[in-house]
Amino acid sequence: MRPTGQLHLGNYVGALQGWVKLQETYDGFFFVADWHALTTDYDNTARLSDNSLEVMLDFVAAGLDPEKSTLFVQSHVLQHAELHVLFSMITPLGWLERVPSFKEQQQNLPGKDLHMYGFLGYPLLQAADILLYRPAFVPVGEDQAAHVELTREVARRFNSFYSLKGKPIFPEPGLLLTPTPKLLGTDKRKMSKSYGNSILLSDEAAVVEEKIKNSVTDRPKLTDHGDPDRCPVGNLHQIFSGPERLAHITQGCTQATITCVECKALAVPSVNAHLSPIRERRRDLAQHPGRLIEIMKHGAAKATRAAEATMVEAREAVGLLRIGAVKDSAITAEPGGVLRVPSSAKEAANLQEWAQIITAAWVKGANAILKPDRPGIFITRNGRGSKVGVHAAAEKNKKWEFTLEDRPIQTLVLLAVDGERIHDYVLPPKFVSNVWKQFERDGASVRIRMIRSVAGALLELGNKQIPIQEYASAYLPLQ
Ligand code: SF4
Repeated sequence: MRPTGQLHLGNYVGALQGWVKLQETYDGFFFVADWHALTTDYDNTARLSDNSLEVMLDFVAAGLDPEKSTLFVQSHVLQHAELHVLFSMITPLGWLERVPSFKEQQQNLPGKDLHMYGFLGYPLLQAADILLYRPAFVPVGEDQAAHVELTREVARRFNSFYSLKGKPIFPEPGLLLTPTPKLLGTDKRKMSKSYGNSILLSDEAAVVEEKIKNSVTDRPKLTDHGDPDRCPVGNLHQIFSGPERLAHITQGCTQATITCVECKALAVPSVNAHLSPIRERRRDLAQHPGRLIEIMKHGAAKATRAAEATMVEAREAVGLLRIGAVKDSAITAEPGGVLRVPSSAKEAANLQEWAQIITAAWVKGANAILKPDRPGIFITRNGRGSKVGVHAAAEKNKKWEFTLEDRPIQTLVLLAVDGERIHDYVLPPKFVSNVWKQFERDGASVRIRMIRSVAGALLELGNKQIPIQEYASAYLPLQ
């Protein structure tokens, strides 16, 4: 969603409402597309950051749940820009010039100079936005289905040039068509902020009432027959009124038995009943800006992990040199960052030696330069006392048990060996400090148990089980 200001009912019924439903079934990524806003509004950015906050507020107020979905601001995840650069290298200009909105927008905004690379290239930024997360589906309204087609073409082209051991990097995403009920603006044109004809998600009840009462309708005389399909108030009933009220106004309008004043008066409570909880959540969150900042940070970190996992493969496939990621020929990394157990591990004399071989293999293949400190403990290249504990364990009865002797580490890496493969979980400092807290009473050594589950891996902390799947192969630069 572009941050052009507070969201209106058109944005809500056309997209947001559908996303809120999807989050019950899908693991969704929803973001405020602030770089996209620059493609047309590059010369007026005074309200850009405020608008991004407003849209994030609307996201959460409308029911997007930061626990269920990943909510973030595009420019907080730099990988979007990086993948855009890679795509811009391989996409023929003709593909971009024939995107219908390239010409349409230029016609719609005649006073604006849109002869900018950013504007021409925005479909590639969009392709990067989508493909970074390698989604199964992109939720779009029918009118935007064509936009996703270009993304699919870009994915095919990238895959035709680059792959990892013959495996494509970007699966082509499918379409998840979300219903986009028709909703006219209060002046009967398309609802748009620039026309001044929209009802905002944040409008107070009295403002909503005022806007509905002043809406333009088609029946100047009571005896005129109307059509709720072509009336902004009729549209509101179709979306927000219950079946009985809708049947009542549809009949009244088409057969000229109710007045528009009556019909509007009935639309007001329907709309306000729907907006009231949204308004309340918005007001509450606006009073606690710290909470919103936490939501954005959490979302950006989660999105970055997923995006970085994709970029590790994309960079490698393209053939870019990554310092610290030069792999030993004995270690074969599979897409997804899974390492194979080196054959020398079979000859290990004891468990300790076996763990050392596994750990060394991971350190060599990791996306960071780590200097050994003590067994199992490494220091990141930039030093500054940042310590990384790397521990390996083999699977026994669907469980891995790690024993840690050394507590003052910032990042914990658990290497769960399953047959021939090493699955790594890079746990950030915040997570690690929780581990220490939970185990404070356990004395000198700390035992951590990881359990295989249908959804991935679970870490056992006290009597709690915490999913840690999202940390799998998270090769973020270790600070
Ligand atoms: Fe619109 Fe209602 Fe009037 Fe029909 S009766 S034209 S739906 S306001």
